[in-house]
Amino acid sequence: MLFRNVLTPPAAVQLLSVTCILLFLSIVFSIKLQTPAQLSHSTLLYLQDTEQQYQLHTLPDPTSNQWLAAKGFQLGLPISDTPYWLSFTVPALANAEHWLLELNNPLIDHISVWFLENGELLNLYQAGDELPFSARPLPYETFLFPLPKYEQQLRIIMRISSEGTLQLPINLWPESRFLVFNGEHSILIGLFFGVLITMGLSSLFFFVISRQPVFLFYAGYVFSFALLLASMQGLGYKYVWSDNPWMQRHSVAIWANATVFCTIIFTNILLDIKNISQRLHKILNGIAIFFAISLVLSLLIPKAWFMTPFLFALGTICVLMYGLGIWCWYKKVHLARFYTLAWTSLLISCLIACLDHLNIISLAISSNYLLMLGVIIETFLLALMLALSVNRQRRQLFSIQKEALHKERYMRVVQEKVLEQQNNAQEALEYSVQERTLELEIALRELSEINRELEEKNTLDALTGIRNRRYFDKKYLAEVRRSRRERTELVVAMIDIDHFKRVNDEHGHLVGDDCIKFVAERLKKALKRPTDDVCRYGGEEFAIIMPSTDLAGAKILLDHVRTDIHDSLVYSAGASISLTVSIGLTSAIMDPQQNEDTLIGFADQLLYQAKNNGRNCVIAKPLSNTDPSQ
Ligand code: GH3
Ligand code: MG
Ligand code: MG
Repeated sequence: MLFRNVLTPPAAVQLLSVTCILLFLSIVFSIKLQTPAQLSHSTLLYLQDTEQQYQLHTLPDPTSNQWLAAKGFQLGLPISDTPYWLSFTVPALANAEHWLLELNNPLIDHISVWFLENGELLNLYQAGDELPFSARPLPYETFLFPLPKYEQQLRIIMRISSEGTLQLPINLWPESRFLVFNGEHSILIGLFFGVLITMGLSSLFFFVISRQPVFLFYAGYVFSFALLLASMQGLGYKYVWSDNPWMQRHSVAIWANATVFCTIIFTNILLDIKNISQRLHKILNGIAIFFAISLVLSLLIPKAWFMTPFLFALGTICVLMYGLGIWCWYKKVHLARFYTLAWTSLLISCLIACLDHLNIISLAISSNYLLMLGVIIETFLLALMLALSVNRQRRQLFSIQKEALHKERYMRVVQEKVLEQQNNAQEALEYSVQERTLELEIALRELSEINRELEEKNTLDALTGIRNRRYFDKKYLAEVRRSRRERTELVVAMIDIDHFKRVNDEHGHLVGDDCIKFVAERLKKALKRPTDDVCRYGGEEFAIIMPSTDLAGAKILLDHVRTDIHDSLVYSAGASISLTVSIGLTSAIMDPQQNEDTLIGFADQLLYQAKNNGRNCVIAKPLSNTDPSQ
């Protein structure tokens, strides 16, 4: 489980790096590195030329007390802007061998070396960072000077001036031993830088793929650190910026500042300081900016001024970052223990290297390689942190995605339920609406039925039950228009009961009503066609309308009705009453120009004519013959 979680692609590369470290370690311990010859029989003298007054020939005698004696040949002098002179002798050496003098500090600005025997100058070399790399007597990362041939004793005088630190380890190598040493040393150096470059490139590659800045800053840290170490070992000048003394002068400052800058930002992101303390996050960013400014300043101001404050700031920041690691570990910040461990490995290797330098302990391997090992372990641990952090982020992302998926599924179920409820509600609503609509339709139908009945009742005469005057007026108008349109003959008759006042007077109104009902009934019975209609026109007056009927036929029908009434008796309230009616009958195919009332008006005139003619008769004339007297 742990294996599966940790073995992400970045972790796989880091695993490769571990293999390289182990390889590095095994080579370190398997190689018995060659060491230079002992110079124990000679004393190294040094003299600070504060006034810059001395030349080779004006130097005090070696026996003079102006010279100070160093403890051995691994000399360390305080930073100074004035030159130092060194002087020592080399006794007669194996002449079959070529010998090399090494000043093992690749960062010295100016070196002049004089080889003298019995006061006679055998050879003179000029070297230093201020000169192009190609000007060196031997193309090697540290300063190497071949010893000239001499007989008994060689005096070597060196003038050294440098703005940087003045560690001046002096070695004397038999050439054959140096060649073996160089081969072995090159393997270790190649392996060391190989591991760093692999880690840097893989991180850069992950940055290109993932676009996560943390990879970029880690790659920045690894490359800056590698270039810093390359500068300090003289390899940068040898391989990268060979003919650029300006770059060589500033390289340590540039890469040291860049390393610190990248480390701070990288730490800030990786330990997620923002989440622990917003203020600390801002402080770290501020410090990173400080080192970015320091980088620019290092290019502008002299190295001697810059070096001391920078080393002080560097020391402070190392303590601070280490303290930050421990604090975060204490606060149980994820990965903080790896971070502290990474710094611890570097510090321990530095400490052991220092103890070795001070001859307190004696190591089987050179302290320089131990330091390189410390750097590699630190770089590896930081890379492991990176891998674990990415893995953690990935797991967090997975769990967030899983949770989101779960929530989405839950939401979908809820949504479906709501939808179902909505559908049910909709169905219920639709059903109820349909029900209400149906009820409404029924009610409307009933209402319209009632309306129709009311309408019907409205057109009926209450006494006789036949159509009333209102209905007649409408029917008459409609039939007149139809006659005009269809050119059909329309018959209209006006009927009036004769001497009805007398009936009322003699028998009373109720009997009179029965008589009106009787006549209405006889008239209704006489009409056979559904298009014919009889209406009560007024008190005891009736009107008949007969569409598409000829006058002659209508006269026969009405004569028949008149006779029928005349021949019948009305029985009411114990009385038997004989009635007669007078009828005015006319017909016409109505002209569009003719007034609608013309036909009914003419029928009325004919009715009065019938009255005048003695009643109980039918006067029938077509409208075209408008003279009622004819
Ligand atoms: P004529 O032969 O000239 O028509 O003589 P008439 O008496 O019938 O005269 P007229 O037509 O002018 O008289 C109509 C009378 O009919 C007047 C009124 O008293 C009577 N009458 C009108 N409507 C009703 C009714 O609904 N019931 C009864 N009982 N009498 C009515
Ligand atoms: Mg009348
Ligand atoms: Mg009458």
